[in-house]
Amino acid sequence: MKNCIFCKIVEKKLPANIIFEDDYFLAFHDIKPAAPVHLLLIPKKHIESINHTDKNDEIWLGKMLLLIPKIAFDNGCKPGIDGGFRIINNCGAAVGQEVLHLHFHILGGFVGS
Ligand code: AMP
Ligand code: ZN
Repeated sequence: MKNCIFCKIVEKKLPANIIFEDDYFLAFHDIKPAAPVHLLLIPKKHIESINHTDKNDEIWLGKMLLLIPKIAFDNGCKPGIDGGFRIINNCGAAVGQEVLHLHFHILGGFVGS
């Protein structure tokens, strides 16, 4: 998608600190971290938000969710009962979605976790 920052990161036309990549997904560090660990996981295909998915998307959406713990724990979030991470998905400009390309924020590394 032209003029989409995250599509440009997928196409390597914009730099990013990429920490995971496969055929369908990309994860990288948020440029303005709101936590000690702040990662973004996106589908490589341009999809505006969860509101733009339907039943046809259930397989890749499930795969995307299942990737989150691996990405979190490989990148500084602490596993175990005193660890964990937070997942945020802003869905719609009116509720704070600034980049209109579906992404999950993965936040962790908080004090004591
Ligand atoms: P949202 O408000 O949910 O759309 O979040 C968009 C996130 O993308 C924000 O946390 C931004 O800091 C982050 N962001 C914007 N541009 C970049 C970029 N070039 N590289 C990494 N993260 C970015
Ligand atoms: Zn895009």
